[in-house]
Amino acid sequence: MTPPQTKPSTATSRRIHLVIPPLTQNACGNVSTLKSYVYYILANLKNSSISVVFNDHLQDPEKFVRYKALVSRKKYSAADGVCVVVFQGNKGPSLDLLKTLRQKNNPPFVILAGTFAGMFHDRYLKNRLAQVVILQDPETALPRILRTAPEKYGGIPRIAFLKNSKICRTKQRGRHDLDALPFVSPYFRNNGTKPVPILTARGCGFSCAFCDKRLFWGSGTNFRSIPNVLEEIELLYNRYGVRKIQFDDYDFLLKKQRAVTLCNALIKKNLKIRWECATRPDAVDGKLLRLMRLAGCRTIYFGLESGSPQILRALGKPLDIKKAVENIRMAKTHAIRVGIFLIVGAPGETPETLRQTKSVLRRLPMDELFVNPLILLPGSRLFKEFFDKNSPAFDDYFETDKALVYPCDWGLLSKHVSPLARFFEVKPSLTT
Ligand code: SF4
Repeated sequence: MTPPQTKPSTATSRRIHLVIPPLTQNACGNVSTLKSYVYYILANLKNSSISVVFNDHLQDPEKFVRYKALVSRKKYSAADGVCVVVFQGNKGPSLDLLKTLRQKNNPPFVILAGTFAGMFHDRYLKNRLAQVVILQDPETALPRILRTAPEKYGGIPRIAFLKNSKICRTKQRGRHDLDALPFVSPYFRNNGTKPVPILTARGCGFSCAFCDKRLFWGSGTNFRSIPNVLEEIELLYNRYGVRKIQFDDYDFLLKKQRAVTLCNALIKKNLKIRWECATRPDAVDGKLLRLMRLAGCRTIYFGLESGSPQILRALGKPLDIKKAVENIRMAKTHAIRVGIFLIVGAPGETPETLRQTKSVLRRLPMDELFVNPLILLPGSRLFKEFFDKNSPAFDDYFETDKALVYPCDWGLLSKHVSPLARFFEVKPSLTT
């Protein structure tokens, strides 16, 4: 095997191939969040005047096969860098590509970004599949890596790299100024009939046990300023004719006062724009819903997860179910469409807890229902509790497309989930 390319100490890299391998069939997660993550990297490379070849195969596996064939024939030069973005949903195809790159006679300098790569950076580095792994804030880290000599990597926050065969990790310094980032929503403007996603904040203040959100943007929450968000919305509206947007924040109502300010500003601007958002069912109230509707809100996706207090506790999301039901019903009375997210098969799920969930759903006016089994997402508390990174099963997980579904009673679920979906005449998206 040829040793991996070491970057010249004079930091000559000026051209980068940015590659997103395709999501596999088992992939879970919000595609627009993954795309936003990558578009921020792309936009910041362009802003930094770094020449970039963008290979977006996230939803095009066939194009990726052709690309890989090209990679095995291609000759790389010392100025070539390849940045592969690895999420849980594309870890299998990513690994294939990295192995192909490693086998080349003159392998390029490989940098990894993406939440899965960050979480398991030690494995990628030890196996010489990459020279640097970005742990967080990839859009600011990547241009710096490309312009910094390896002996000075220690000055770049939140990356990992090999130094004398030892893994070095640098620390986070300060918070990211989100207003300084370029607008990426215009990349989505040809979204067909789908709304264009806009991220107004990164992170989430809650810590539900099944959620991997901290892995994406770190702990805590980082907000864009309202004028900065409005400027992006007006750009979409005036220049690209966009009339439908989706606030892609994990929880749009994390800071209620901020949401109120944004809604008032949208009303004042009188833009004929319609939007949707996601939040917890305990976050809304009548006054807020009225304001949101006036400001253009037409759909709210609620992360209800379960109708059983016991399951909600197991998921680390203790909600007042009575209040949640009241609030969701209230959204409908304000002429806002309602989508509900459910998780089934969590630890402790029984026929009784599923019955409780069904009984709650019967009281809810829903337009969409998404029923998912519990996926153990890397970076989540449940992943740590139920999966041993040092077990032989981990190799299988790392090397293949598999997602980790919590080992629940599938017989029980199939008995309850389908009738549940039929009852409400909505199609559940059951990812297995
Ligand atoms: S599930 Fe939602 S509320 Fe809970 S931590 Fe994740 S983003 Fe936050």
